[in-house]
Amino acid sequence: MLVPLVTQGWGFQAHKKINRLAVFTLPKGLFAFYKAHVDEITEWAVKADQRKSVVKGEAPKHYCDLDHYEKVLPFDTVPVYWENAISKYSLDTLEEYGTNPWNSQYVYQKLIAAFEQKNEEQIVKISADLGHYLADIHVPLHSTLNYDGQLSGQRGIHSLWETKLVKHFVDDYNLLVGKAQYIKHIPEKIWERQAQSFALVDSVLYLEKLVSKNIGARGKYQIEKNGSQTRKYYSNVFCEAYHNVLNGMVERRMRHSIEFVGAVWYSAWVDAGKPKLDVY
Ligand SMILES: [Zn+2]
Repeated sequence: MLVPLVTQGWGFQAHKKINRLAVFTLPKGLFAFYKAHVDEITEWAVKADQRKSVVKGEAPKHYCDLDHYEKVLPFDTVPVYWENAISKYSLDTLEEYGTNPWNSQYVYQKLIAAFEQKNEEQIVKISADLGHYLADIHVPLHSTLNYDGQLSGQRGIHSLWETKLVKHFVDDYNLLVGKAQYIKHIPEKIWERQAQSFALVDSVLYLEKLVSKNIGARGKYQIEKNGSQTRKYYSNVFCEAYHNVLNGMVERRMRHSIEFVGAVWYSAWVDAGKPKLDVY
C-alpha cells in the first residue's frame, strides 16, 4: 500500500530555501531590512501551508487547475484580473479549481499597502506568504486537475517532484540568481509564470511514466517494514533516473521562484514609493 501523500506545493525545505535566497537578490535600500528579518521570512515561508487545515478558504490559494478552463495554452479565455474572473465564473468554481494567480495579485497589493504604512510586522508576514504563493505558481503540478497523477495511474508524483527530488538533489543545485529587477506589470508576469508551469505538466507526467516503464515496478519502489506497518517509497534508483530525465527542471523552477519572489517584493517597495525602513 502506498502511503497517502499530502500535497503541499514545494515541500517545506524548498519553500524556506526560496524565501531565504530571495532576500539575497534584493538591491541596496531594501536589502538591509529584509536581511534583518531573514530568519522570520525563512521560517514563515511555510505558514501558508500550515494554515490550510485550520483556515477555511486557504487551500485554493495554493493552486489553479487551469485545464478545467482550457486544455491548451495560451490561456486567452481566463481573465487576468479577479473582478473579471468572478463575473465570468462563480466564486464556487474559482475556489474549487484554485485561485493562486489572482490571490497572489491581491497579496501583492497588500504588500504595497504595508510598505506605504511602513508597517514592518506586516511587511515581513506578507512577504513570507507572498513568497510562498509565488513559489507554488512555479510548480507544474499546481496547475492541473491531475495534480497528483491520480487521473493517469501515477499517484504520488506530486510530492515526488516537489519534495522528494528536492530533498535528494538540492545540495547540487546552483540557486544563485542575479539582483532583483523591477517588474512593471505584475499581474501579466504572474500569469506568464503560471503558463510556464502548465506547459511543463505533460513532461512531468510523461517522463515519470517512461522511467517507471524502464525500471519496472520492482525497481521503482522500496518497501520498509516497521512492526506491522509496511511503507512503500520511491527507490533512490528511480528518483535518480527520473531526476536525470527531467534534465534540470526542478532546479530551474526553484531558481525561477527565487528570482521572481525577490523581484516581486522589490517591485512592491518601488510601487509604494521606496519608503525608508528602520533596521534593528
Ligand atoms: Zn502551498
